[in-house]
Amino acid sequence: MDTATAHIVQPKLPETSEPDWEVVILGAGVGGIYQIKRLVDLGVKATVLDLSPDLGGTWYWNRYPGARFDSESYSYGYSFSKELLEEWEWSEHFAGQPETLRYCNHVADKFDLRRDIQFRSRVTSAIFDEDTRSWRIALEDGSKHTCRFLITAIGPLSTPTLPRIEGRESFKGKSFHTAHWPKEPVDFAGKRVAVIGTGATGVQTIQTIASEVGHLTVFQRTPNWCAPLHNGKIDAETQAAIKAGYGEIFARCQETFACFIHTPDPRGAFEVSDAEREAFYEKLYGERGFGIWQGNFKDILVDRKANATISDFVARKIRQRVTDQRVAEKLIPRNHGFGTRRLPLETFYYEVYNRDNVELVDLMETPIERITPQGIRTSEREFAFDIIIFATGFDAITGSFDKIDVRGAHGAMLRDKWKRGPETYLGLMVDGFPNMMMLMGPHTALGNIPRSIEYSVDWVTGLIRFTLENKLTFLDATAEGTADWTDHVKALGAGLLSSEVNSWMTGINSNVEGKQTRIVARYSGSAPAYRARCDAVAASGYAELRLG
Ligand SMILES: Cc1cc2nc3c(=O)[nH]c(=O)nc-3n(C[C@H](O)[C@H](O)[C@H](O)COP(=O)(O)OP(=O)(O)OC[C@H]3O[C@@H](n4cnc5c(N)ncnc54)[C@H](O)[C@@H]3O)c2cc1C
Repeated sequence: MDTATAHIVQPKLPETSEPDWEVVILGAGVGGIYQIKRLVDLGVKATVLDLSPDLGGTWYWNRYPGARFDSESYSYGYSFSKELLEEWEWSEHFAGQPETLRYCNHVADKFDLRRDIQFRSRVTSAIFDEDTRSWRIALEDGSKHTCRFLITAIGPLSTPTLPRIEGRESFKGKSFHTAHWPKEPVDFAGKRVAVIGTGATGVQTIQTIASEVGHLTVFQRTPNWCAPLHNGKIDAETQAAIKAGYGEIFARCQETFACFIHTPDPRGAFEVSDAEREAFYEKLYGERGFGIWQGNFKDILVDRKANATISDFVARKIRQRVTDQRVAEKLIPRNHGFGTRRLPLETFYYEVYNRDNVELVDLMETPIERITPQGIRTSEREFAFDIIIFATGFDAITGSFDKIDVRGAHGAMLRDKWKRGPETYLGLMVDGFPNMMMLMGPHTALGNIPRSIEYSVDWVTGLIRFTLENKLTFLDATAEGTADWTDHVKALGAGLLSSEVNSWMTGINSNVEGKQTRIVARYSGSAPAYRARCDAVAASGYAELRLG
């Protein structure tokens, strides 16, 4: 044994029947697609299981009107293949869902990955068998698989939640959750439509259907700060510049805090004059994408007073854009500052409320009492609808884990281990759950997600290669490693204004039982720091892990 493997302490597996697969990946979204590509290249016997009828994950399910990126298309696509970058042309700065789904399919077809993916395969349990050092995976249809290593790529936003409103099932019209949108077009012409929810998805839906529907009623519980997307077509000249500049684009994403092309301005909000600050905000408000959130003064997300300056600026914009000032006031958030929840980007969203066929119902004033066969009853009146759209989001980050009965060593249940919030090692592993790695699970750097996915997949692939080279059949995080990383992630969240706000980013979801207490599910440090920490672990020959 050389020094790189001196920490391999577990005895070798005495005798074992080979599992069906060396690796099973759960989920065929952006993460699962890249992970299977890397494992196929490595010659590993692996398969992907996804409950969906087809691949794409987020981009398969979220077909609601107006669904699109908030990341610049060219910063979102995979970076691993020069040929792919050269041949794929994004049509818009922020591509819509149909295009992104086509992209996912193009990638799978180009690299012939479809044959390694099994669809309509909902995993209900994953149980670690210590004797064989392998996972036993059960599917809803009764079929079973065994594998040495389990990689979860089940998505941070993939378990939709419906509102807990009485009478939901009694509605006689059509109703849709945005993440379970039908493939056939929905005819809105002349229809009375309700949208419940004004998060990123609700905003995209509302601004897209307002001009198509007969009448639109928006039910808003919590207004969100929104900023203009400024989307546009990519012309031939820009296309050429993007292709020539991919190296720079991805290098920039590697350097920035959250892997976007935007990075905070090094100045504090009060290090400039009032006029300069106003001009800077005006500039950011007029620019594409998340710059106003991710590229703003360095202190707006940590300093209450600095945050108030940008909140005040955006509130003034809302008042300018919405004609009826009573409506404008309802659209201005009071319970959180700008950027402390996930920022929806919009295209003429506020102007929607100037239309005669659109009405805003503030649920803080007149809460929904129940859904009726005809529509929705609030404390004030009854509304009749043909269609109700639930833009009520997801059981974020841990939701998809909760749906699977995951049991590690000695029958320990992941649900129990995470009862008071997730505990992870680098957001990639959990002690006591050997041979399991997570992509985009809790406590990992998210940000511009495919950038984080590519890093995590490469890291996990490196670890799998290491186990193969060293003929290992067992790996586990230590209890100490898990506790340290969990404490580190909690410490990073302290002092952030977003940590003091109820949102999916702090684990709150009023529609899910048991998710009313804030937890730290999100790594809020810098992506470069995250990668440096994970790189160091790999460079040490995974010395912090228990291997055998
Ligand atoms: C509308 C919308 C817009 C978004 N825009 C952006 C953006 O602009 N920029 C950005 O960075 N991120 C964005 N995101 C986040 C997006 O989720 C990620 O970018 C990325 O697609 C996540 O990929 P993933 O592979 O990790 O997960 P997913 O794409 O969610 O895929 C997970 C897969 O796992 C499957 N699965 C889950 N549970 C099981 C089970 N028990 N058994 C079998 N299969 C299972 C699901 O069916 C799904 O196919 C957006 C999300 C939404 C919903």
